[in-house]
Amino acid sequence: METKNIKAFGTTGAKELLKEMTIKRRALTAHDVEFEILYCGICHSDLHQAHNDFGGSVFPMVPGHEMVGRVTAIGNHVTKFKVGDLAGVGCIIDSCRECEYCQQDEEMFCKGEVLSFNSPDKYLGGSTYGGYSETYVADERYVLSIPESLDLAAAAPLLCAGITVYSPFKHWNIGPGKKVGILGIGGLGHVGIKIAKALGAHVVVFTTSDAKVADAERLGADEAVLSTNPQQMEKHIDTLDMILDTVSAKHDINTYLNLLRADGTVVLVGLPPEALPINPFNVVIGRRSFSGSNIGGIAETQEMLNFCAEHNITADIEMINIQDINEAYNRLLKGDVHYRFVIDMASLKK
Ligand code: NAP
Ligand code: ZN
Ligand code: ZN
Repeated sequence: METKNIKAFGTTGAKELLKEMTIKRRALTAHDVEFEILYCGICHSDLHQAHNDFGGSVFPMVPGHEMVGRVTAIGNHVTKFKVGDLAGVGCIIDSCRECEYCQQDEEMFCKGEVLSFNSPDKYLGGSTYGGYSETYVADERYVLSIPESLDLAAAAPLLCAGITVYSPFKHWNIGPGKKVGILGIGGLGHVGIKIAKALGAHVVVFTTSDAKVADAERLGADEAVLSTNPQQMEKHIDTLDMILDTVSAKHDINTYLNLLRADGTVVLVGLPPEALPINPFNVVIGRRSFSGSNIGGIAETQEMLNFCAEHNITADIEMINIQDINEAYNRLLKGDVHYRFVIDMASLKK
């Protein structure tokens, strides 16, 4: 298959720094869309994978799965896009298209799911390379239309952070009359506050960072709690319908199960590499549950983008040049981002 060499930033090992490298993109097949990547968000999952937190990382690796840009070429059978359109790619770039989950627009449950990076590349062999790069090529079925009204750089994080919080809110029927807790004000958490508010819920955020307590209201939260303060925590026992847990490191789930009303649910979207022990009484009493959620399907991702355009929701971002990515990773590890790093991909041309 014909390929094109492009510039990218990636890593050659879990303990290595990210650096410039050359990778290949496939020539377009009939249903493929190629777009120039203008902005790419930095999700904590990029960092988990680059550091091989879960095992199974394949190197060299080019992370990045919150990419947006303009279409530069289309295959002969492409109908959804034309050259010059805004386009975006999130986590999923292919699936079997036949299983019950693909038929129900829940491609994230498909056994044949292919991810935008660190996933087997059935065209070129090796692994897929993500969005810290000049261009991307994907089948149009998995490419999203980005509403022109949104600030493009600030919309990039919606491709992963946005859908990861929107999908569980929809699944657990979050709306007016519901009290939602959001645990962690990072990339996912801060978008979660905005989306839960737009859905009509009462939002209480739980943060370990003193400085973020004051900022939570600006982001739209109704109440903000410093989770290290037991008096502040106690006030919320037995009050919440759902808690969206976005924490990326080991933490005590039991404290949060206790904040749920009867039949309430803690939904974990964060991916701490360690197990999280649960005290049986915290779920048995009150019929509470502990659940999880993984991104969302392609149709729901488009629905979320349109919802965000309607409510003018984007991420609060810190824009960086790609040459500063290793420092950005260090700050992300410390929870010191307000609230999502987005790479200005023009810097890759320097
Ligand atoms: P992030 O920007 O780093 O946010 C995580 C937040 O968690 C931090 O800002 C911090 O908030 C809090 N936190 C971090 N360490 C903590 C600790 N030891 N104890 C308590 N709180 C802590 O990361 P993100 O990009 O939002 O991603 C969050 C997690 O979701 C990651 O594990 C990522 O891999 C995962 N993820 C999952 C999916 C999915 O589909 N399920 C999709 C995307 C990402 P405070 O400062 O407010 O406490
Ligand atoms: Zn992500
Ligand atoms: Zn499938």
